[in-house]
Amino acid sequence: MRDFVRRTLIWMTLVAMLGLGFWAASSAVDALIAVSICVGGALAFHLYHVALLLRWLKHPVPERVPDGFGSWHAVFMTLYRQVRSQTQSKRKLTNVLERFINAGEAMPDGVVVLDENDRIEWMNPMAVEHMMLDRKRDVGNLLLNLIRQPSFHAYMKGDSFSQPLILKFGQPSERVLSIQLVPFDSTRKLLLSRDITQLERVQTVHRDFVANVSHELRTPLTVIGGFLETIHDMGADDPAMIRQFLPMMMEQSRRMQSLVEDLLTLSRLENSPKNLVSEKVDMKDLLDTLMVEAEGLSQGRHTIVLQATSPAWLWGSAPELHSAFGNLVSNAVRYTPDGGSVTLVWRDDGDKLVFSVSDTGIGIPREHIPRLTERFYRVDRGRSRGNGGTGLGLAIVKHIVARHQARLEVSSEPDKGSCFSVVFGSEHRAEPDLKGEKGKAA
Ligand code: ADP
Repeated sequence: MRDFVRRTLIWMTLVAMLGLGFWAASSAVDALIAVSICVGGALAFHLYHVALLLRWLKHPVPERVPDGFGSWHAVFMTLYRQVRSQTQSKRKLTNVLERFINAGEAMPDGVVVLDENDRIEWMNPMAVEHMMLDRKRDVGNLLLNLIRQPSFHAYMKGDSFSQPLILKFGQPSERVLSIQLVPFDSTRKLLLSRDITQLERVQTVHRDFVANVSHELRTPLTVIGGFLETIHDMGADDPAMIRQFLPMMMEQSRRMQSLVEDLLTLSRLENSPKNLVSEKVDMKDLLDTLMVEAEGLSQGRHTIVLQATSPAWLWGSAPELHSAFGNLVSNAVRYTPDGGSVTLVWRDDGDKLVFSVSDTGIGIPREHIPRLTERFYRVDRGRSRGNGGTGLGLAIVKHIVARHQARLEVSSEPDKGSCFSVVFGSEHRAEPDLKGEKGKAA
């Protein structure tokens, strides 16, 4: 600026001196003409630069800022610097905004930006999925018109947003969302949504599990407590009554013991490392043991048959396989009326190895089959309890089968019988251990 004033003063002094020179040397008219020529030249100079500036302003690109002379050079340089720094800040801001939008788009939670009237300004894809919104159609619409649940309206109209709202969305595969409103700026709000379906499911399973265990334990405890009270009140000196009650009390205590044992087995399985410590399991030994156990359970009431056709060594955990197969055999015996038969089969089909237990028992209606491996799921509660079942056997089988990367197949027909098969991949086939006689054939 100071430079500009100095240049102008110098220029005006020079013109004045020129005018005075002409006046002294010639006449006042010549002096006026000389000064007018100088002023006209200056005006043309400035008009030319103004024209350059106007032309540039139509397309204000920093790289095309015109070049000028004298003071205009300084003006154009300053303009260039300012425009360039503005363009750079704009570019930086655009980058930051883009990064924010990208981060919002990639977030695993839903985000909706609302204006002061709760109209949607922006939403990310997760919000679209969670709240079944449409990015094109719903931007600019009132959120309350799109989500019509009364609890959501009450939450949005309230003034306490410190706690999230739990909402259920969609039928039939219901999604449970945790929704929270976060006001920001003075007027805008963020609506955050998180899918907690899985968490809710785990909590429900946990609650049901505790309720089931309590219920299962309460029944035998009540029975034992009742007997003890009766003996205490009436029959402490009555050996006949004690003799009559004792077996029933022992039966109830056995029931509790089996339940606790099954619970411990389940808990051990759930807490054991995912990677199974595999060993070579001699299926012949295992099948023999299972046969002895089946005979023991059946007490001669059933025909028990073993069909094993192949060399039988398997990579797996012997105690776990014993537990899984034992549960299947025990079920087959327990759910087969007297006179029926239970068949244990071991076969090597080349690409798979199969252990199956089939029976000619009561069978299972088709609709129950998918749920059999849930903890405490029983087709007939009374029958299961009556034959000493805990409702945990097939849950244990499911865990063990999964730990062996095998699969459990169930086929059954009411009143005809059931077949439970555990199918192993051929990679579980182990070479016979040649040290002993074991492993030649099962
Ligand atoms: P439980 O201790 O009650 O036998 P399980 O988990 O072993 O519990 O089995 C779950 C349910 O599956 C049983 O209550 C029974 O209704 C049904 N079930 C299992 N195996 C058989 C079978 N071989 N025949 C008929 N029903 C069976």
